[in-house]
Amino acid sequence: MIYPIVAYGDNILRKEAEEFHRDSEDLTKLVESMYDTMNNANGVGLAAPQIGLSKRLFVIDSTKMEEEGKGIKRVFINPEILDEYGDEWDFEEGCLSIPDVHGDILRPEKLTIRYFDELWNEHEEEFDEMTARVIQHEYDHLNGVLFTDYIKGLKKQMLRAKLLNISKGTVKTDYRMRFPSKK
Ligand code: ZN
Repeated sequence: MIYPIVAYGDNILRKEAEEFHRDSEDLTKLVESMYDTMNNANGVGLAAPQIGLSKRLFVIDSTKMEEEGKGIKRVFINPEILDEYGDEWDFEEGCLSIPDVHGDILRPEKLTIRYFDELWNEHEEEFDEMTARVIQHEYDHLNGVLFTDYIKGLKKQMLRAKLLNISKGTVKTDYRMRFPSKK
């Protein structure tokens, strides 16, 4: 199932998401829908709050951004970033909930994360480069943080009108969105 993607301005994107309970949803179906929704919008990551579910779960597909053979396609359930390290590096990020907005964001190069997969196996792994970046962006969504929060000063002021337009629903996307004012 392809869900409409929750747009900037909706409170659910600002909430700290709750822990995912193993039997609370049909996990197989949910994960499949998350991938379908992400792929339909040509995204490289999607967090549950972006489909209106305030739970600690996200999917990523960094193979779309990495060289061949690199990157991963994976679901992270109840993830916990244990450590972030390495040099900070800049990359221009975007977000399916904030269409047509981009910004250079600094993030540490590497991280260690503990999470459950869809078969409820626990993992503790290190990721770097683009995969780490996508994880950091999606992990932020579970804590109510958006990449635009890191943009400050004049650049942020220049974004304000654009962000307001998104929350009002006056933005065009080739995927379906859910706007706070049009619920
Ligand atoms: Zn995002």
